[in-house]
Amino acid sequence: MGKLKLHWQMLIAILAAVVIGLLFDIKTTLLGVSLYSIFDFIGMLFLNALKMLIVPLVMSSIIVGIAGLGGSDNLGRLGAKTVGFYLCSSLLAILIGLLLVNLLSPGVIDGEAAGSRLNLSEPEAVSSQLVAVEGRGVGDITGVFLRMVPPNIVKAAADGQMLGLIFFSLLFGVFMTRISKEPAQTLLGFWNGVYETMMEITLFIMKFAPLGVLGLVAKTILATGFDAFQPLMMFFITVVLALAVHTFVTLALVLRLAGLNPLKHYRAMLPAMLTAFSTASSSGTLPVTIECVEKNAGVSNRTSAFVLPLGATINMDGTALYECVAAIFIAQAYGLELSFVTQFTIVLVALLTSIGVAGIPSASLVAITVILGVIGLPLEAIGMLLVTDRILDMLRTSVNVFSDSCGAVVIARSEGEQGLLV
Ligand code: ASP
Repeated sequence: MGKLKLHWQMLIAILAAVVIGLLFDIKTTLLGVSLYSIFDFIGMLFLNALKMLIVPLVMSSIIVGIAGLGGSDNLGRLGAKTVGFYLCSSLLAILIGLLLVNLLSPGVIDGEAAGSRLNLSEPEAVSSQLVAVEGRGVGDITGVFLRMVPPNIVKAAADGQMLGLIFFSLLFGVFMTRISKEPAQTLLGFWNGVYETMMEITLFIMKFAPLGVLGLVAKTILATGFDAFQPLMMFFITVVLALAVHTFVTLALVLRLAGLNPLKHYRAMLPAMLTAFSTASSSGTLPVTIECVEKNAGVSNRTSAFVLPLGATINMDGTALYECVAAIFIAQAYGLELSFVTQFTIVLVALLTSIGVAGIPSASLVAITVILGVIGLPLEAIGMLLVTDRILDMLRTSVNVFSDSCGAVVIARSEGEQGLLV
């Protein structure tokens, strides 16, 4: 297992799951135990392991990212520009995803919600839950903000109320930099340690991803046969299309508006994008990104050393877009009409969680559990996303890295740097 790259292992696991699904059905037993319940157990164990990380991972990555910005005026200005650029580009990415997922409706097949083909539980059971969370009118927008400021942060974390936790972490990161130096350093060291440990645990859990995929995919196919693939194909196409539009239209326009040459920039960034594609980790790709941005695109080290590491942590256009498409796809598959308020919530949470997501493989899965929790959809639906997750992860990570590099060149330009690709 150890030698083969993870994405190959996962592809093999998917193939194995498909073969198992072809050979057996839901009634098959092994030594008296149903095959379905064995795969269900393996899959759930893997999902639980991912979910276990949510609270510490989200808190520490946001706090470390925001606190890292503190310091002199110079850093403050660069920080404001960087965060501003990254927030706008992620928002644009999410809106493209939102538009395409509403236009193409990948969760609806032949006019019917695809939920039953995907072995999801009865839509009625879910929609009563959803109605409890969402509603109509202005009163519910105030509800979103009320959830953002929970009266008890520990209870919010325990209840999976991530919006409150994210907002609290943002405040914590900002105000941590305003206290005296010594305790601030201690806190930063602590949260850095938590963050790095969480990244390590995530990587460790990902070692079991092939097994998790096998369990979750085999379980789905055993129960549903191949009906599962048709809705997923449309989902796959929707995500790929939206990623392409963002990379080749939106970001190209942004570069043009900044007076830069998009074609030259694509060429300059190719090694970084290919590395991102094969590692599915923007953090892992960072050294290559810095090298390409400095050597090929002509950005100074002063700018790139600040903008790119921050980008690798907080700027994930591809991830934000993917989260939004995935959440709405799942809602469509359950046959739910999402109100404006709920779609607004999804956009907001996708934006905030994409900031909190770590630049490591499959980190979005954790963020999607957050979104589903916020809008009140069952987390089990995430299992089916694993079928296409690895390849989409490779693609969205390339977009994440490309957008980081766009931030670097545009900000370098605004700082009056010469020697850029124009
Ligand atoms: N793998 C992505 C990255 O490193 C994060 C994700 O979307 O899962 O940028």
